[in-house]
Amino acid sequence: MTSRFDGIGMTSMRTRSRMVERLRERGIRDEELLAVMGSVPRHLFVDEALASRAYEDIPLPLGFGQTISSPYTVARMTEVLRNGRALKKVLEVGTGCGYQTAVLARLAKEVYSVERIGELLKRARTIFRDLRIYNVRLKHGDGQQGIPEAAPFDGIIVTAAIPHVPRALTEQLEVGGRMVLPLGAQEQVLYLIERTECGARETVLESVKFVPLVPGVVS
Ligand code: SAH
Repeated sequence: MTSRFDGIGMTSMRTRSRMVERLRERGIRDEELLAVMGSVPRHLFVDEALASRAYEDIPLPLGFGQTISSPYTVARMTEVLRNGRALKKVLEVGTGCGYQTAVLARLAKEVYSVERIGELLKRARTIFRDLRIYNVRLKHGDGQQGIPEAAPFDGIIVTAAIPHVPRALTEQLEVGGRMVLPLGAQEQVLYLIERTECGARETVLESVKFVPLVPGVVS
């Protein structure tokens, strides 16, 4: 009997290591992260019809007009977020299909992830259970508010484009913590915010393309 887990079987292991090689060629250096991306079965997070394309370096539709970021974007954001540190408690805004969440879950002690579309959360929850990922707390809500009751976080990652840095999120970052987010509307750039003793330091990284952050929740 075959299941979605055998999925594309050995081929998926091979395609995964090819994906990791491409990430290395494009400049990703964090070996711990590369090992995790080589182990998380990305094809389980996309629609079955798209599973064969899951390891190409492209964003894919995940339903509800949303997209799963390309492997390179996931790698780049996670590398900047981690900066070689072991992460304790990370907040993700925009769970989507849960792939980025799963990568974070293997690199951090605890991951909190907020998603505004209830149906996406339900799907992600099922995959986490199947993959035996137990250190993720999912919340249905508007991620701009963060999760004050779980703060502070040593890492925050926003996976939808936002016009300005939400004050609530900077406040939920611990001193020494790092936040990575796509800022802007049509033209977007990746921003790194580092929380310091006396405020926050901002660094502009590269141009990116994300779906916009939308206020409010839907079921
Ligand atoms: N990390 C995701 C990216 C999904 S796309 C993945 O790899 O699949 C961005 C996601 O952000 C979408 O699922 C969208 O519904 C969600 N989103 C948009 N605005 C939001 C908000 N205000 N709060 C929480 N999630 C939001």
